[in-house]
Order: sequence, then structure tokens, then C-alpha cells
Amino acid sequence: ATMPPLLAAIANAGRHGVLVKSAVVMEHLADGDQVAFDKTGTLTEGSPRVAVVHPVSDVDLTSADLLRLAAAAEYSSEHPIAAAIVTAAREQDLDFPPAQRFVSYPGRGVHAVVNDHAVEVGTPTLLDDDPDGAAGRLAARVQRDGHTAAVVLVDGVAAGVIGLSDRIRPAAAPTVAALSALTGRTPVLLTGDNPDAAGAVATQTGITDVYAGLLPDGKADYVQRLQTTDRRVILIGDGVNDAPAMATAHIGIAMGRSGSDLALQTADAVIVRDDLTTLPCLLALARRARRVVI
Ligand code: ADP
Ligand code: MG
Repeated sequence: ATMPPLLAAIANAGRHGVLVKSAVVMEHLADGDQVAFDKTGTLTEGSPRVAVVHPVSDVDLTSADLLRLAAAAEYSSEHPIAAAIVTAAREQDLDFPPAQRFVSYPGRGVHAVVNDHAVEVGTPTLLDDDPDGAAGRLAARVQRDGHTAAVVLVDGVAAGVIGLSDRIRPAAAPTVAALSALTGRTPVLLTGDNPDAAGAVATQTGITDVYAGLLPDGKADYVQRLQTTDRRVILIGDGVNDAPAMATAHIGIAMGRSGSDLALQTADAVIVRDDLTTLPCLLALARRARRVVI
């Protein structure tokens, strides 16, 4: 017997490295007309590296102390920034103590108790009490360089800033161009990261609409708003922070390798080996399958 066209398309997508979870998903993919990308781990490789470590000058900590505390607090986080901080500490042979009472705030950062001190690591919004203080100025400088700033607070006091850089996937720009041609609309970028880092990635990938500084629910609200203007959004992301937006989107797609468990569960389809070039193939397949069905 010949396979029904939607199932044949799913099998074909599988051969290209995309796991499509159902025939309904394949059908809905064909009407998707606005692609929205997450930044970190999706358009970028998501394996950032620590580029700079700046303790605040009037706090009595060395760069090594700052990195050690941050690594201890980040140890249990699955965020790529956390992995980068832990890797940098190990590369410098820093011993970091175990942390207690680890809590993660998706899209924001982490909190943990290290050697009886409360340590927070996360976005510069942690400095909102004093955005123009020494740490705020360091964070702004790091961001102007196109890096992501992770600020470190110890017992509620801003102690320093860690700057991280992440490589854009080589396939990102050609994929954005191919998807623009297929859907007739340029993909948009939704990110929790700062506007400077987001703008740098957008410019290099051919994206013009950028929404930065979004918390997980903010990403979902933005997708919702796009969809009220008669668009059907295909959201591609990798993080816990992308799950609400994936659930809101017409179709949610997760990066298989860099993706968190929650993203993989929530998504309607998974790009198994993180190869972005499979996206235009997938859309073309879905559209072809629909023509055969009709
Ligand atoms: P993106 O949307 O670019 O994938 P996320 O929503 O995962 O980014 O995170 C948004 C921002 O929150 C990050 O750029 C980072 O500044 C901060 N952040 C999130 N998790 C962590 C963490 N574990 N450690 C430090 N910063 C974090
Ligand atoms: Mg991400």
C-alpha cells in the first residue's frame, strides 16, 4: 500500500533530521507564515564562552573569587551561560564549593547559597535597585561590546560582571533568507538577552524585527500578539524559557541537541541534530504534502 501523503512527509522529514510529532503538526506547518527565532542556542551555537570577568572595584573580591562563587551557584543550572561559567572556573583550576538551596528563574538567572552567602547570577535587571552604580556601568560596557552580561550579587550586593560571547551558527543567515523567501515574511527574533547582543545577532543574520529583554511569558505574549494580526507563528527555540511561547505558537519547534527537556516535550517538532538548514526543507515538505492531500 502507498503511505498517506502526510505520513510520507513525516518519514521524509525524519530522513532530513526533523522529528515531526504527528500528522496534524505536518498539516499545520504548511500554514505557518511567520517564523520567530529564539537567540541563544537557536540562532547562536548556545555554547557561550566567558570572555571577561570584572569584579566591582570597591568589593573585596578577585576575578577568581567572583568566578568561583558564580560557578558554585550555577552548577545545577542547565542554561548555556551556567555551563560556560562552570567550564571557565574548571579551566582556571578553581575549586568551587557545593551550593545549597539552588533555585532557577528561567529567563533571569539563578540563586543559591554558597559558603553561607546568598549568591545570585543573572541578567542586569538584578541591578534594578541601582542600575547606574559601578556594576551597572560595567554591565553596560560589556553589553556595548556585543557580549551577554551575567551580573553576580553576593548577599544582595553587586559584586561583579561576567561577560560571555556566543558564536552565530553558520547556517543562521542562509536559513533566515530561505525562510523569508518561502513565507514572504522576514523571521523575527525574540530573546531574553539584552538589546545590544540581540541587535548584533539580528544584523548578522538578516533579521530586522528584534524583541529583547523578554521573560518567558513575554515571549508567549509577543507570539500571541503576532497571531492576532492574522499570522501563524512557527517558533523555534531551545530553552525552558521558550516553552510558553512554543505552546502559544501555531507550531513550536525545538533544537534537539541544545534543547532542554521541557522544550523537547512542549515542541510539535524537533530538529534532531540542530541543523537549521532543515527548516526550509521541512516547510517545503509540509506545503507539498498539503497540495497532495487536497
Ligand atoms: P534567550 O532568549 O536568548 O535564549 P534566555 O531567556 O534563556 O535567553 O535568558 C535570558 C537572559 O537571562 C540571558 O541572556 C541571561 O542574561 C539571563 N539568564 C538566564 N539564565 C541564566 C543563568 N543560569 N545564569 C545567568 N544568566 C542567566
Ligand atoms: Mg535559548
